Amino acid sequence: MKKIDLKKVMAWLGFMLRCPICEYKYNLQNIKVLDSQTDDEFNEARILIHSECQKCNSSVMFNIDINGPEIFSIGMVTDLTSNDSNKFSDLSAISANDVIGIHQALKRFDGDLVKALASPSK
Ligand SMILES: [Zn+2]
Repeated sequence: MKKIDLKKVMAWLGFMLRCPICEYKYNLQNIKVLDSQTDDEFNEARILIHSECQKCNSSVMFNIDINGPEIFSIGMVTDLTSNDSNKFSDLSAISANDVIGIHQALKRFDGDLVKALASPSK
């Protein structure tokens, strides 16, 4: 049974991945693994990575799905930096109550952003 070696996968990703905006080849140092799961029994792995382009400064999150010999990759342009993605990955998902809370706050919002930022609880 072959084990999936994440270090080898990362080296391969560093070799293969290019910025979807400007096609500049990513530097491995600018690729960070946010989350990974491996299932050696079924030779499967899922890796979520964040990459920053050194040329155009865009950020992209890639979901890499390895299923035996098949590799699927989905990239999504994001405005999150790698620090942001680390910070938000520890937070819980946005709930329906969060959305209702923001909706109600925006309904009461009088347009004074300085006041709203000075006292976000009101
Ligand atoms: Zn780029």
